[in-house]
This record gives sequence, structure tokens and C-alpha cells, in this order.
Amino acid sequence: MGARGKRRSSAAQWPQEAGCDLTSIGAIVQEKSVSETERLLLPSSVSFSSTAEMGLSLKQHFSPFQWSFVVATITEIPPVLFMPNFLVQRKVLKPLRTQTGGTIMAGKLAIERGWAINIGGGFHHCSSEKGGGFCAYADISLAIKFLFERIEGVSKATIIDLDAHQGNGHERDFMEDRRVYIMDVYNRYIYPGDGFAKRAIRRKVELDWGTEDAEYLQKVRTHVEGALNEVKSDIIIYNAGTDILDGDPLGGLAISPQGIIERDEIVFRAARKHGIPILMVTSGGYQKRTARIIADSLLNLHSLGLIGKELAAGEPERWK
Ligand SMILES: [Zn+2]
Repeated sequence: MGARGKRRSSAAQWPQEAGCDLTSIGAIVQEKSVSETERLLLPSSVSFSSTAEMGLSLKQHFSPFQWSFVVATITEIPPVLFMPNFLVQRKVLKPLRTQTGGTIMAGKLAIERGWAINIGGGFHHCSSEKGGGFCAYADISLAIKFLFERIEGVSKATIIDLDAHQGNGHERDFMEDRRVYIMDVYNRYIYPGDGFAKRAIRRKVELDWGTEDAEYLQKVRTHVEGALNEVKSDIIIYNAGTDILDGDPLGGLAISPQGIIERDEIVFRAARKHGIPILMVTSGGYQKRTARIIADSLLNLHSLGLIGKELAAGEPERWK
């Protein structure tokens, strides 16, 4: 599975997601010597057999029928409809499966080392039953289920979903599961507006069009602290979508680049303060400048000592 990810000498082959150049995030971070070569890992992609082994259903994504149609619907990329299946497989689904493997691998690393970041993943509209909203694989749900089933001592998880959209995929997956605490902060007027899924949210923060830094950061600070005080989880899954950025064509919010950097800092500081391992995924973000902002945020976390070598040295007691 992803946990046996191969070491790479370069970050140049990170998979890409629509709108956000994941390759350049890895390249910038590596250039600044934040991560030594051995700490940039390329995950294995997930497969039907590997998920079935975990008792997780992804059957519909591996259907041999109407591939292009199904994938075009799920990913909401219309040209996919006209692509031959082998190209859909190679150009669309393989990168998504690699990112999904990355989230699972990062979950395991976060438990071992205190933190891990998947430069990708965060497909929060996809549930184990159904894809949607650019999302073909339920990486967050898969990672949590993997940790619950395979990693000793992990029995409770907190999802902090700060992408501009409601995370209805993981919400539907964990609707009845009290082991998973979900906090979700999103623009109330945009996709998906999934009223049924909202019932799974334990801490719901609905934002208006054009919400700006001061209000947003105050709400994030208050509710992250509240969520972590409410339940003592074994892992935080932080869905750090950057589609909250001012000018994003889909998010409808007005957060500045500095606001995004501060938001990530608030979440990592809270995780550190409460002694809970954190797994971050990058989720949505649909502007060219997004990659640079994510890289700057990672550099900021590193300069503050919130991510870095000292926490990756295999001394979990220091983290606690
Ligand atoms: Zn989003």
C-alpha cells in the first residue's frame, strides 16, 4: 500500500490536479531545502485489490463499462467523455489514485512522526459509494479506515475541513460513526449544499459570499480550538483547500494569500498544543498562484518549527 512508498531523488514527478500545479509545490519546497530528498516520498497508487483487502468498496470506479462517461461525470471534466479509455486511465485516474495512496501513506507517517503532508489529495466530495465534484476516490475516508483497521492505538479521528466547499463525501461515509468528529467551514451558498450530509457535521461554520481574513481567521481559531477541546482524537485530518483564496472562480470567498498562510499556522499550532498528530491534504484550489501560496505556507510552518526534522526523528513522546 502507500505506506511502502518508494523514495525518489526528485519532486518533479508529483501528480497534478486541475488548476493547481502540484509539481511546483514540491519543487519550491525542495529547492528551499526544507525537505531532504529522503523525506519526499512518492506513494504507490491504490488499486481495487488493495482497497478490497481493507474491506473498502471502490467497485464502481473500476467498472469496465462506460469508463469515459463515468469518469467525465465524476471528475466534472467534460472533455474526458471523448478520451479513449486507456488515456482516461493514464491521464486522469492514475494520478488521482497516486494522490489517494499518498493520503493513506501520509496518515501512517503522521502517526509515526507527528505530522505529514500530502501535496495532493483531499477529495472530499467523494464517498465510498459515489464520486462527484472533481473527486473520484474517497482518500480521506480510506485513510481513516486504514488507520482504524491497521494502526494500533488509533480509534478516533477529527476531520478539520477548511476547503471552501462542504465536505459531503467524508460526511456521508462517517454519518453513523461516532469515532470520527467532523468540523467543516465552507461557503454556504456553493456546491454541494448537501443537506443530508450536513447531519454528520459536529461543528458547522457556514460562511457568506466574500468572507474576508479577519472574520474567517477568528472563526477558524475559535472553532479549531473548540473542536480539539471537545474530543481528544488520535489523528487530525486537515483538508486545507486553497479555494478560499480571493478571486477563486469556485470558492466565492475573499481570503488573502497571507490569510491562507495564517490559517494553516493556526491549525498546526493547535495540533501541536493538543499533542495530536496531523495529516494535511491540499484539496481544492483553482488559480495559478495557488501552488506558490501552498509552498509559502509550508515554508512558514517549517520556519516556525511546526513541521521539520525534529518532529520526524521518530520520537513520538516529544510530540505528545
Ligand atoms: Zn473546494
